[in-house]
Amino acid sequence: MIIFGTRNKFKTVGTGQFYCPHCQMQRTYEKKQAKRYFALYFVPLIPMGDIGEFVECTTCHTTYNVEVLKAKAPEKHVGAVELLNSVKSRLLGGDPVEYVVRDLTVAGIERDMALSLVQSTIGDQRKLCKNCNLSYAADITQCQECKMPLPESA
Ligand SMILES: [Zn+2]
Ligand SMILES: [Zn+2]
Repeated sequence: MIIFGTRNKFKTVGTGQFYCPHCQMQRTYEKKQAKRYFALYFVPLIPMGDIGEFVECTTCHTTYNVEVLKAKAPEKHVGAVELLNSVKSRLLGGDPVEYVVRDLTVAGIERDMALSLVQSTIGDQRKLCKNCNLSYAADITQCQECKMPLPESA
């Protein structure tokens, strides 16, 4: 008896990083191409055409339509915690106190809270740019806006 039929063969045609909706994080994918073969005794002999390409997550092995590669990871919401952590690095990096406070209040933090947070981060000393009316941490030597050197702490 001759057994014949069709078999599918998969070929990996690419690999890369993608956002796997199942793992909900960046993963490595393999892009695979499926081809249908006419097979004799389960040995693929004659290619019968492409079935199509798909994408497989190498971690969870979920397969997706290649469209998944266009999907981006969901925007990470920058919450208050990240903002608080960024206060110190921003102030010491030369951002004006006023801008940092503004961003904190935009994020929903009380102005008084924001101001005391700044104070606990860089202390009481400020340098003031008289051109811009912006104040800076005592270690900052140049105004971010007008690029003028800041006077010694008042
Ligand atoms: Zn996955
Ligand atoms: Zn200035």
